[in-house]
Amino acid sequence: MTVNLLGLDHEALKAFCAGLGEKPYRARQLLRWIHCTGADDFAVMTDMSKPLREMLAREAVITAPRVLRDTTAADGTRKWLLDVGTGNAIETVFIPETHRGTLCISSQAGCALACTFCSTGHQGFNRNLMVEEIIGQLWLASRALRSRDALSAGFRTAQSAVDRLGQRDHGERAISNVVMMGMGEPLANFENVVAAMQLMLDDSAYGLSRRRVTLSTAGLVPGIDRLRDACPVALAVSLHAPNDELRNELVPINRKHPIRELLAACLRYIEKAPRDFVTFEYVMLAGVNDSVAQARELVKLVKSVPCKINLIPFNPFSGTSYTRSGPEAIAHFRDVLMQAGLVATIRKTRGDDIEAACGQLAGKVHDRTKRRQRRQEEVAAQ
Ligand code: SAH
Repeated sequence: MTVNLLGLDHEALKAFCAGLGEKPYRARQLLRWIHCTGADDFAVMTDMSKPLREMLAREAVITAPRVLRDTTAADGTRKWLLDVGTGNAIETVFIPETHRGTLCISSQAGCALACTFCSTGHQGFNRNLMVEEIIGQLWLASRALRSRDALSAGFRTAQSAVDRLGQRDHGERAISNVVMMGMGEPLANFENVVAAMQLMLDDSAYGLSRRRVTLSTAGLVPGIDRLRDACPVALAVSLHAPNDELRNELVPINRKHPIRELLAACLRYIEKAPRDFVTFEYVMLAGVNDSVAQARELVKLVKSVPCKINLIPFNPFSGTSYTRSGPEAIAHFRDVLMQAGLVATIRKTRGDDIEAACGQLAGKVHDRTKRRQRRQEEVAAQ
């Protein structure tokens, strides 16, 4: 059976090379070709002998999920819909800003946690993504965002490609940050997400610093502890409510891991985290969690945890009964937090015209809808 090398981190690639009777340094060479230059064809890897390249072509492939759709929003946000087989699709979003570019990556097809305000949660859980499907999103987006010049250039060695593309040294990278904030709960797909993040951090692959990779969780307490030991990156936690009663309703996993335990896990995490704070995300739902009294309750709740609070205006999706808090309510809520000495920001809504904003990712495939429609029409005709 052929192996997909996109799914192998440095250690796994070393083992693969050893299996072929090759030296461990080949792993680094392959990593550079695959992730720094975006190569998917062994023939271009001319710093390896022809027989080796031919053997690689027989034993292995480099394949990312197929792009079903590629859409750019009015504000430059770009969304890819990717086919991950058996009718499942996932989404990846690139958010360009003046001094940075952030890629938002999915970790599961669907999600089991069923947060009531999240579109992915409404679709239910399909399956965990494999390493190649997670890192494949970064691989595809990096290739797509690379300049035409770089793509047409022929490279003799992986190192010359790295030098020419100026990925590491010139700070020109289109993707400077990665957030595990797409579809799915990343800590519920722990091993694969960590292996993919190791590639993001690896100097021979994407070389991102731990501070520039953020994992967002709905609050899987044991997962937060495991992450702290396995791969501490910047941590964001979806808090969304100032007490257990409301959080039980909005984020049902809270019944299993209540706020007190969650905050204790955040404190343990900070000891090893690359940043000295945790980001709490707080979706602003009109009349549900956005009152001044609730802002005050939130201040009291988080006072023992070094944190920043990121208020996310709710992004509506079809079938939801929630509405977004008004701009005044959001500003007021933020002011209460700031007056109490907390750092609070309001997340700018990006790409909502192409359903690329937080909570709008559902991996909708038009074809599937059409199929459903056709079936309904057939039934109606009978
Ligand atoms: N499962 C992870 C990561 C995915 S979502 C988590 O829960 O953290 C990234 C962020 O968007 C989370 O804070 C999530 O709660 C928030 N979100 C989900 N649905 C949203 C919506 N409709 N509007 C605004 N934010 C939403």
